[in-house]
Amino acid sequence: MAGTVSVLGGEIAADAARRRAETDGVERARQGESRERRLAPGLWQIDTLLGGWPEVNAVFLLEGESPCLVETGPQLDAPVVVAALARRGLGPEDLAWVVVTHVHLDHAGAVGEIAGAFPSARIVAHERGVRHLADPTRLVEAAGRVYGERLDSLYGRMTPVPPERLQAAADQEVIELGAGRRLRLIESPGHAKHHLAVLDESSGALLVGDAVGVQIPGGEALRPATPPDDFDLGRALGSLRRFAQLGPEQVVLTHYGPAGPPDQVLAESERQLHLWSEIAREAYREEASVDHLEEALRARIRPRQRALPERLAAVQLLTGWRSNAAGLWGWLERERRAGEAGSGPARGGSRA
Ligand SMILES: [Zn+2]
Repeated sequence: MAGTVSVLGGEIAADAARRRAETDGVERARQGESRERRLAPGLWQIDTLLGGWPEVNAVFLLEGESPCLVETGPQLDAPVVVAALARRGLGPEDLAWVVVTHVHLDHAGAVGEIAGAFPSARIVAHERGVRHLADPTRLVEAAGRVYGERLDSLYGRMTPVPPERLQAAADQEVIELGAGRRLRLIESPGHAKHHLAVLDESSGALLVGDAVGVQIPGGEALRPATPPDDFDLGRALGSLRRFAQLGPEQVVLTHYGPAGPPDQVLAESERQLHLWSEIAREAYREEASVDHLEEALRARIRPRQRALPERLAAVQLLTGWRSNAAGLWGWLERERRAGEAGSGPARGGSRA
C-alpha cells in the first residue's frame, strides 16, 4: 500500500509541474480576477491555485480599516496571494493582520513571504503553534516525511518570521478590524492541537481551516482530515460541537469554500469522523499497523461515483488514505497506552 501511495505521489508531482508551467507567472496573475470570490460584504475568498489546480486551496481577506488575511497558502503560492491582495487595493503597508488556522504548510507555508511583502502586518497563530513560524525547521522536516518529493513541487517550504512580528493567540481572542468589525478566534483542536477557527462576527462566516474536513468541487463528499501527529477524535468532535453552538451563517473550508447549510455540514462531518474512526478501531483490533488501517479505509469508504479523477488526485494530496490512516493509528496507539496506564481514554498525545 505504501508503494501505491508513493507512485501516486510521483504522478501528482509531475502533473503539478506541468500545470504550474502552463499557468505560471503573468498568466496566473492575469487570470486573477476570477480567482477571487466575495463570500459576504468585505469577505473575499482567494484561490491560491495550489499545484496549479483551481478550487483546492483558499486564503481569505477580511476588509476593514485594519485588513486581515486568514491563511497564507503554501510558499509556492505566495505570488498569487500577493497579486490578489494588490488587486483588492492593498499596498505593502496596508495589511494589518495575518491569522493562520494552523501551521501546516498548505495553510501557513507562505507566512514568511507574506510577512515580507506586508511589513506592517502582525502574524497571529495559536499559542501552541506560533513558535514553529519563528523556527520552522522541525515543521518542514515533518512535512518532508509526509510529502516526500511533493514538498518542493507542490508546497515549497517555510521562511521564518521575525519573532517580534508574531503574536500568540488563545481561545476567544478578538481581532479588531476597525469600524466595529471583529474577528473571534475559536480554539478547535482535533485535526491539530494548535488549530483555530476564525468567526467573522459581522457576517457570521466561520472559517474552519481543516477542522471540519475537506470537500473540493468535483471531488469526494466531505471527508475528514485526520493526519499525524495530533489527530484526536474526542477533541475533533468537541470542536464541531463548539462550531454548532456559534450558529454560523456559513461554514467555510480552506479546501474548499462554503460547504453548504452549516447544521448539515457539521452533522455530516461528525458522521464521517465516527465512520472513519470506527473502521480504524476495528482494523486496529485485527492488526495494529498503519498498512492495515489504510487497507480497511480504502476497502470500506465508498468513492462518490461522480468524482473526477483529477479532483480525486487533489483530495488524496490534501487528505489521503495514508495520512488519515497514520493519524488514526497514532490516536489509537495513544488511547491504548493511556488504557494500559489505567488513566482512561487518551486526551491527546505527547508529541508536539
Ligand atoms: Zn492541516
